[in-house]
Amino acid sequence: MRYISTRDNTIHYSASQAITQGLAKDGGLLTPFYIPKLPGKALDDIKEMAYQQRAVYIMKQFLEEFSVKELTDYANAAYGPDKFDSPAVAPVRTVDGNTHCLELWHGPTCAFKDMALQMLPHLLSASLVKTEEEKTACILVATSGDTGKGALEGFKNVPRTKILVFYPKDGVSEVQELQMVTQEGGNVGVSAVVGNFDDAQTGVKKLFSDKAVCQELERRGYFFSSANSINWGRVLPQIVYYISAYCDLLRDEKIAPGQAVNVCVPTGNFGNILAAYYAREMGLPIDQLICASNSNNVLTGFLREGVYDKNRTFYNTMSPSMDILISSNLERLLFAFTQDTGEVKGYMTQLSETGRYQVSGKVRDRLQARFKGYFCDDTETQRVIRAMFDRHGYLIDTHTAVAFSALDQYRSETGDETPAIVASTASPFKFCASVLEALGETSAAGGLDALDQLSARTGQPAPAPLAGLRDKKVRFTQVVEKDHMVDAVLSLLG
Ligand SMILES: *Cc1c(COP(=O)(O)O)cnc(C)c1O
Repeated sequence: MRYISTRDNTIHYSASQAITQGLAKDGGLLTPFYIPKLPGKALDDIKEMAYQQRAVYIMKQFLEEFSVKELTDYANAAYGPDKFDSPAVAPVRTVDGNTHCLELWHGPTCAFKDMALQMLPHLLSASLVKTEEEKTACILVATSGDTGKGALEGFKNVPRTKILVFYPKDGVSEVQELQMVTQEGGNVGVSAVVGNFDDAQTGVKKLFSDKAVCQELERRGYFFSSANSINWGRVLPQIVYYISAYCDLLRDEKIAPGQAVNVCVPTGNFGNILAAYYAREMGLPIDQLICASNSNNVLTGFLREGVYDKNRTFYNTMSPSMDILISSNLERLLFAFTQDTGEVKGYMTQLSETGRYQVSGKVRDRLQARFKGYFCDDTETQRVIRAMFDRHGYLIDTHTAVAFSALDQYRSETGDETPAIVASTASPFKFCASVLEALGETSAAGGLDALDQLSARTGQPAPAPLAGLRDKKVRFTQVVEKDHMVDAVLSLLG
């Protein structure tokens, strides 16, 4: 299987090159040239398998250079019982007859980023060997919360990698900050940046393109790499859980073979819902892809009108991992719909020059046929959390609530009662304050005491990785100005 840039199809890459490099030199995203189809009886074959085996089967379709033995080792290490608190890894909980919730937060950091970030380090280390890269990968991450911790946990003590995470000093929840500053491992670094997420993100991008810094790195035997969701090694493991969820429903006879389902995903950078689209391209019977946004609803407008316009107010919401105005992975969908790297490049140039682009009528029609966009604000988010808990005794986080609201809106607008799989992306215990408020607790406790308060209110225990933060030592206290991020990099490398 060959990979190309979404902006230039003349250069071909192997899977290991795509994973090592992260981003194409022309700024495009490295993407498979075509999406392989699952063999005819694949779903029947894999429905009896454990999650780890399903992952091997599906990832193998994209990774010819990797042996089944290699992939099996990675899957067992990434999704083992020491990492995930559910033997199903990504269990499906049926909420009512035709609504099924795919829980993606049973991993070590309690958010769905673990599904990919537990696998990526294995793929990256092996890719370094396969591409005969001699240097050590220095992975830089700017995070608004979940990615940073997920990447730290995934890469801790992975040979031939160092990882450094920058988070905005005042832009993450207390639990999220504690998760990061207590991180263990010999190859990790964490630093707060004065400013907001954009400052941290812009700072990281500058480091990547700073020639002097890159030369200094090379002299010390390192090169920069990325663990952000633009890396193909992050999208691929996410395809697995949609196919796995469908197989669970088949196995448990909740759907019939071949029956169509809709999939609803709370969306930020468009990585997670893109993986569902790829699962459909592989042959999974998905009909509609419902894209759920919070008040930062740039995608809702895009999917309805075909106009992407990021020139709008940015809101800090209670679903912060979706507070984003540039959804990077959308570029891969544009390539899938156009098969034309020149057209994609044109849209992306307009986006960077004017903050806006309008797709052709053909692309708009294809978008509208497959994707439905809905959004909701914080008041609605909290109403949904309360209703879900009161009606079904089911506690969900703020991001997942946005998805349930979108599904509700879709169903009442269309009357379409096709069985739906809703992606649940974080443990409610990561966002205690907002969830407690939704449940009517007016004075929420601060810090880790909020975990106890939410447990007391709901009768549900906090996940062990969060409860365990109490006993962890704070290791990182550095706060840098955004112009001094390079100092943090050089001190980590020693
Ligand atoms: C990252 C994240 C999202 C958004 O996922 P994308 O792949 O960026 O669309 C949604 N919910 C949570 C909890 C997240 O951490």
